[in-house]
Amino acid sequence: MIQLINANKTYTSKSGIKVKALDHINLEFNARGLVFILGKSGSGKSSLLNILGGLDSANTSKILINGQELKRFDDRTCSIYRNTHIGFVFQEYNLMNNLDVYENIALALHLQNKPVEPSQILDMLSVVDLNGLEKRRLDELSGGQKQRVAIARALIKDPTIILADEPTGNLDSQSSKQIFEVLKRLSQEKLVIVVTHDREYAEQYGDRIITLKDGRVEEDTQINAFDDVITLAKPIRARLPLSLKAKMSFENIVQNKLRLLVTVMIVSFLVAVLSTVYTALYVSADVTGDLMDLSHQTQLVLSEPIPFTLAETIAPKLNPSTPKKLNAEAVLKLRGIAEKNHAILFPKTHLWLGEDWLRVKDLGLKIDRPEALASDVVIRPNEALLEAIEDATLTFVSNIKVLDRERIGRLPEDRFEVVISSALAQYILVSQNKPIHDYSALLNQFLNVGSFHRLKIVGIVYDEALLLRKEQSILNTSYTNLYVHASFLRYNPLPTRLESYGVQMTEKTDTHALIEALKTVGSITLLPRVSDRLNRYTRHELTLIMAVLVPIIGYFALIFLGNYIASSILKRKKQIGILRALGAEIKEVQWIFMIEVLFVGLLIVLLVLGMVPYMIDVLNFIFKVHFYDTFIAYFHYDVFSLGMGHFIEVISLLALVNLVIVFTLTYHINILDPVDIITGR
Ligand code: ADP
Ligand code: MG
Repeated sequence: MIQLINANKTYTSKSGIKVKALDHINLEFNARGLVFILGKSGSGKSSLLNILGGLDSANTSKILINGQELKRFDDRTCSIYRNTHIGFVFQEYNLMNNLDVYENIALALHLQNKPVEPSQILDMLSVVDLNGLEKRRLDELSGGQKQRVAIARALIKDPTIILADEPTGNLDSQSSKQIFEVLKRLSQEKLVIVVTHDREYAEQYGDRIITLKDGRVEEDTQINAFDDVITLAKPIRARLPLSLKAKMSFENIVQNKLRLLVTVMIVSFLVAVLSTVYTALYVSADVTGDLMDLSHQTQLVLSEPIPFTLAETIAPKLNPSTPKKLNAEAVLKLRGIAEKNHAILFPKTHLWLGEDWLRVKDLGLKIDRPEALASDVVIRPNEALLEAIEDATLTFVSNIKVLDRERIGRLPEDRFEVVISSALAQYILVSQNKPIHDYSALLNQFLNVGSFHRLKIVGIVYDEALLLRKEQSILNTSYTNLYVHASFLRYNPLPTRLESYGVQMTEKTDTHALIEALKTVGSITLLPRVSDRLNRYTRHELTLIMAVLVPIIGYFALIFLGNYIASSILKRKKQIGILRALGAEIKEVQWIFMIEVLFVGLLIVLLVLGMVPYMIDVLNFIFKVHFYDTFIAYFHYDVFSLGMGHFIEVISLLALVNLVIVFTLTYHINILDPVDIITGR
């Protein structure tokens, strides 16, 4: 026996008017039989059925089965109650349009964690006279057939009660008759409660007729009574199989291809821009770290304007037939600027030696054999770096200031003596198979520079900037300096040379101001050797960009992604409602969207990874242009080189954002009663 005690329902309309839909109704139902609920439209029939069916949790009613009260009417209790005891049949059928007849019926079994036996489903189809229609799609069925599918779905659960709210409301009389025949048959074994307008059918088939008026029972006529004890099923929590959730997710993705594409493109683009700037910042910070470790160099190289990019100036193919010199006036101006900014200007000379620029290779170093570089101390450079080394020129510097640094040996005293950098010393030592730090072994050895110069090594400078060897960054630098006596340049037999000036910065130099000032000197080309401060200058700009980009991009990305998911959820409000009405808990439904969002997230991640390298190229280009056709650092993007930790960081952040979006957006479904979702109220 099922007892409904104190069924109450008051609706408050938007304008604040209260409508009493059910007014303290008490009813008892027997274990089986066909009960009709009649009444005019608005008399409370649907409200009553929804409370009986656990579709409406917001009320003070109690339901007792065999005298035992159901637990508090919270969402989970209601879901379990619906899943275990209730088979619902709606006027609007409420079948899942994306599933075929067979799958619609199987869904009820899935939700009950019961094995799906094809024979059982086929049997059920014959109970509702639908033999052979199991593979039909729903839009290939008539209204009456759909309603019988809905009945089969309700029935296969083996529920305690079958509830039907105007099941024939949309059907012609022939189909209606069929439905009532089926329901009548079922009521031999189950309690079937049917809401209808049609008194004629009620009188023809009913074992009991209850008439409602203004939320109260006006009339209650018992025709046949069967008061057996109900055999109660064990409570079952609904579980949607993962495959079904995934199927529903992907169906939606496929249905919304265009929308998905646009969303993914826009969001990926936004995230890629962000990622690009972030990478630049990250690399930039890394470069700074390298510099701090490797070098104390604080010099800028200024050179004459030449119609080549920096890469070309250091390439051996450069035609130096029209070497230009900075005129005295410009040099004076530059010196003034340098001094004003706490820096020192000094000359550098690139010599043209015969057929070729003097190349590192000419020193007889085997650096084109990478294995020569594979030592513990010298980190193996990447390919681009190796190329840069091979093509690098030597710069002859005769500024004694530069040599006021840590060194072993002494300064050059005549034009046949040279001081080399520790970096060059290491390469020579490696090529001679000597211990890499045994610099003193090189003292008094001769360095053959091309076929013209035989220079005695008298000293080695320690803090010459090493080439940066981290994979992410290749910095603009000629390979090394050779420090010679001032008279070397005077006696150099070769007429061709390229003049440039170095600017040595001090602690007090404001790099930013210095660069801005230098830019005012007409056609000077800045070839910034990398320095910590120069790098900060770069970062200063990037950080500004970042500060503006993050909020804007974050805002738009969220809007686009949120909009996509929101529309996806709203579009399927009805499907969600059906699943909920069948007994699925909100958590199960959320999974469908979770899978979809994770898929979209994955697409976005892949696209971003594909896009960022190109954007980095653009960034590098902008930097080149911005810094007068010179570059400070190349940004190389390789997500794996950023380290696994960083990668996981990014991925988890993305996953977290996805989860938040789904939970926030499905929350509003959570607070609705399934009945409201289905009816779209
Ligand atoms: P019936 O199914 O007999 O037509 P209902 O149970 O649907 O009646 O409705 C009973 C009363 O409650 C009606 O006056 C109806 O307007 C009102 N009502 C039903 N649902 C809502 C709702 N969600 N909000 C406001 N009023 C409602
Ligand atoms: Mg109704």
